[in-house]
Amino acid sequence: MKPAPFTYRRARSLAEAADLLAAGPDAKILAGGQSLVPMLNMRLARPETLVDIASLDALDYVDIVDGHLEIGASARQSAVAAHPLVRAHLPVLAAAIGRIGHSQIRNRGTVCGSIAHHDPAAELPAVALALDARILTYGAHGTSVHPAASFFTGTFSTALAPDEIVTAVQFPLPEPGTGWAFDEVARRSGDFALVGGTALLRTAADGTVERARIALFGVAATPVRLPAVEERVTGTALSRDVLADAVRLTAETLHPTADGHASADYRREVAAHLVHTALADAFAGALAGSRSDA
Ligand SMILES: Cc1cc2nc3c(=O)[nH]c(=O)nc-3n(C[C@H](O)[C@H](O)[C@H](O)COP(=O)(O)OP(=O)(O)OC[C@H]3O[C@@H](n4cnc5c(N)ncnc54)[C@H](O)[C@@H]3O)c2cc1C
Repeated sequence: MKPAPFTYRRARSLAEAADLLAAGPDAKILAGGQSLVPMLNMRLARPETLVDIASLDALDYVDIVDGHLEIGASARQSAVAAHPLVRAHLPVLAAAIGRIGHSQIRNRGTVCGSIAHHDPAAELPAVALALDARILTYGAHGTSVHPAASFFTGTFSTALAPDEIVTAVQFPLPEPGTGWAFDEVARRSGDFALVGGTALLRTAADGTVERARIALFGVAATPVRLPAVEERVTGTALSRDVLADAVRLTAETLHPTADGHASADYRREVAAHLVHTALADAFAGALAGSRSDA
């Protein structure tokens, strides 16, 4: 398949990229091209202009800024997953990236591109939601900060305005000793997940859960948090009964989508199972972390 004709522009600066995007008509950012190029080839997208930001070195970075791990828009997924700051402070992000497609895709795809594209079965929007990440943007009207909780608005849709560029995503650094888990179920390794989830737990000195964050993906148009489950496990030592309640609450409160890949019932059952194992694994990690803190 071949794309419809388009004009290709390689931006030499963020300001130039913003100008080209605003000049349109119907211009789109090209980052890693791992989602956009297949869509062009299948003619699911027909932008008139592509504004390539992949070679903007100023946006190719991973850094700690203001208590957040900040990832620039040109940073490739593989480089981010291997980065020492990510491995030290946010191993859950490295684990999530490791489940994206294949290494060839991760070598070109960007973290910010995945957030901007927002496939409901994508790993990184769920991690962003669980961690209350911030999405930094730049456009004709200046800079903006979007909280992840209000950024993902529907299937392949976000709060991003057509003239806005995601310049970076900021993940708050979890408190030391936070336990985490990330897992997904897909038909084959490298396929998009049918259902996936992540959990982050912090325990208090007495070994009870002080803070719990859980997010699922592949179950709805956007990633979802499970506030009833988070509330149920907080303040407990995650006994067998509490875990059973977490599974029940997941099944009761989740209303998964059905499609040609999986039924709603299947997704509900897998989600409940993933919540069980993710909570147990994150709790074990948190207890081990709090022991090594002491
Ligand atoms: C075979 C295959 C398997 C895959 N499996 C997975 C998977 O399991 N999980 C998963 O999450 N993804 C998967 N992907 C997609 C991959 O992760 C992409 O890299 C990612 O979705 C988009 O990142 P990108 O940098 O390639 O963006 P692009 O493809 O360049 O862009 C995607 C969209 O986001 C917009 N965009 C990109 N960057 C910005 C920006 N900075 N500001 C504003 N808009 C922007 C573009 O305009 C476009 O609309 C797969 C892709 C392939 C081809």
